[in-house]
Amino acid sequence: MKSAFVERDAQDVVAHYGSFGIAPDLALRVYTTRLLGRDPKLVLHGGGNTSVKTRVRDLNGEDVEVLCVKGSGWDMGTIEPAGLPAVRLGNLLKLRERDALSDEDMVKLQRANLIDPSSPNPSVETLLHAFIPHTFIDHTHSTAVLGIVDQPNSRELCEEIYGERMGFVRYIMPGFGLAKEAAEVFDRNPKVEGLILDKHGIFTFGANAREAYERMIEMVTLAEVRLTKNRKSVFVSAQLPQSSGALAEIVPILRGAVALPDPKNEGAWKRLVFDFRTSDAILNFVNGADVGRYARGGVITPDHTIRTKNWPMIAPAPDGSKPADFKAAAKAAAAEFVDHYKAYFARNNERAGGTKTMLDPAPRVILVPGLGLFGLGRSKKDARVAADLAEAAVEGITSAEAIGHFSPIGEEDMFDCEYWSLEQAKLGSAKELPLAGQVAVITGAAGAIGFATAKAFAAAGAEVALLDLDGEAARAKAKEIGGAALGLACDVTDDASVRAAFDKISETFGGVDILVSNAGAAWQGRIGEVDDATMRKSFELNFFSHQRVAQNAVRIMLAQGTGGCLLFNTSKQAINPGPNFGPYGLPKAATLFLSRQYALDYGADGIRANAVNADRIRSGLLSDEMIASRSKARGLSEKDYMSGNLLQREVTADDVAQAFLHQALALKTTADVTTVDGGNIAAALR
Ligand SMILES: [Zn+2]
Repeated sequence: MKSAFVERDAQDVVAHYGSFGIAPDLALRVYTTRLLGRDPKLVLHGGGNTSVKTRVRDLNGEDVEVLCVKGSGWDMGTIEPAGLPAVRLGNLLKLRERDALSDEDMVKLQRANLIDPSSPNPSVETLLHAFIPHTFIDHTHSTAVLGIVDQPNSRELCEEIYGERMGFVRYIMPGFGLAKEAAEVFDRNPKVEGLILDKHGIFTFGANAREAYERMIEMVTLAEVRLTKNRKSVFVSAQLPQSSGALAEIVPILRGAVALPDPKNEGAWKRLVFDFRTSDAILNFVNGADVGRYARGGVITPDHTIRTKNWPMIAPAPDGSKPADFKAAAKAAAAEFVDHYKAYFARNNERAGGTKTMLDPAPRVILVPGLGLFGLGRSKKDARVAADLAEAAVEGITSAEAIGHFSPIGEEDMFDCEYWSLEQAKLGSAKELPLAGQVAVITGAAGAIGFATAKAFAAAGAEVALLDLDGEAARAKAKEIGGAALGLACDVTDDASVRAAFDKISETFGGVDILVSNAGAAWQGRIGEVDDATMRKSFELNFFSHQRVAQNAVRIMLAQGTGGCLLFNTSKQAINPGPNFGPYGLPKAATLFLSRQYALDYGADGIRANAVNADRIRSGLLSDEMIASRSKARGLSEKDYMSGNLLQREVTADDVAQAFLHQALALKTTADVTTVDGGNIAAALR
């Protein structure tokens, strides 16, 4: 591992922050924190922290000695000075005299000593940073160091690698106890350049930012070098089927297998979003004959517990030639995972005096022999975090097994971390959005109604896939929504194009839960004279494409086995024909019937089908020019034309989007038609 420290860059950062009144030591602290945070071999998703001891002026204008330490919620790779809140050092040091301090009291004391009361919570490792006297302190969960400390003989290995240069701290859960123990190890030999924390990570110290950072690089490099010595080849591969089959076929089956019914709401499922990874290193790991032993040993560092759970689910190896067998085997593996988790919880909760509430028992990582691994989460973002940590675990465990035996913290310590109140607080107490964990597909998504619907579903917590004939526009709209929104080109009148889009959605998110079949276009003509080609073109887009996308969605929903929701945009024409609008109204009427047929045929599978019957929405179908010419032809103002309904209100694309959202959330409603037209008695349903 090479130092990325560039003196010129460091000076640029000092000059930049200097112009905002930030002192050079804090600016340099920001610079090297970012260097550490940008290297995934050192820091992943909040798994590390840094500090600097300095002086600042408090709100009374007095000069005080402080510890600026990483605040929770900040990513080291992109940290700013505000992400290193200043805490009164003198008051933190007084705590060392105490025999015990609860985690809750520790957090309160840290907050009470903030210079700026609006700062984020200082790291849970703040006291360790305070009790070590060095000016700059860096802490990471380096994957290479974890390969060394997750060994039964970790202490001897560290002595061999580092001699007297690094102190060795036995495993203690992060908090006051660990801070005191680390300080005692330091006091026994104050010449150490850092500390190795057994089963956890590494700290390095320095008089300046560069020294602490470059010591981190040096110590991690020494661990890397040791891992290359006397390395045995791992792992012996199991006998696997010739071909595992297509990822797009496998993932919905797994996603359905790990979804849990919501006991509080019949018909609702706690679904998870998937993130797939594969590489030679991952395949070597997941294909191993002994994967059940080394993969289920535990977490490489306690910080991972809350994101990945303590062990992954190991799926059966899919056999492309026998896809039907995989579903039952995947369900059995998921049930075994849940039972195992519940037993683990019950055992340890008893030890904790029965005070804990069980988290959901679904896995957060799935290993699939022959294929790769999945990270799982209630959002794509969480799924990616779990997959990143799983990849680090693959590397750490592979290294540990290559030089010895993977031996992490034991079950009781893992439970204490997973059910630690401070760790739970990290995940945030915000209430989940109603569509969290669900995947929604919207066709015609670059148009007014499609885009408004995609935005509404994303705002309700769903992961959204925006399909449009214009792929460029779909991607631009997805980008506008942000997060993990996926924009895809899709010609809904073409079988291969629709299949490819749904495959891509399954590969990206794990499956499909909601379809909003919205793409459409209007053709006109007097019905007795209209040419056959026009009628067929309109039926192709306004009827057959709805059937085509619905069939693809249902195929995936049945593979998942957790129900789903089909929503169709049928327009007022399906009920109340307009003059010369037969070529448009007829296929729309067929699509309205289609939604009822799906409701009837798939109700027993938990798949609902509903339609929205909207009228006169400003969109590609009813452009501003058309509005101008039609209102003029009728002798009305544009406003009166657009609000020519019982309520005399203009109906917008957002109103239609809200109707679709309502139908998606109404778990006891199917075969429904929701009218969104401001009131039109001739189009009212009977
Ligand atoms: Zn740590």
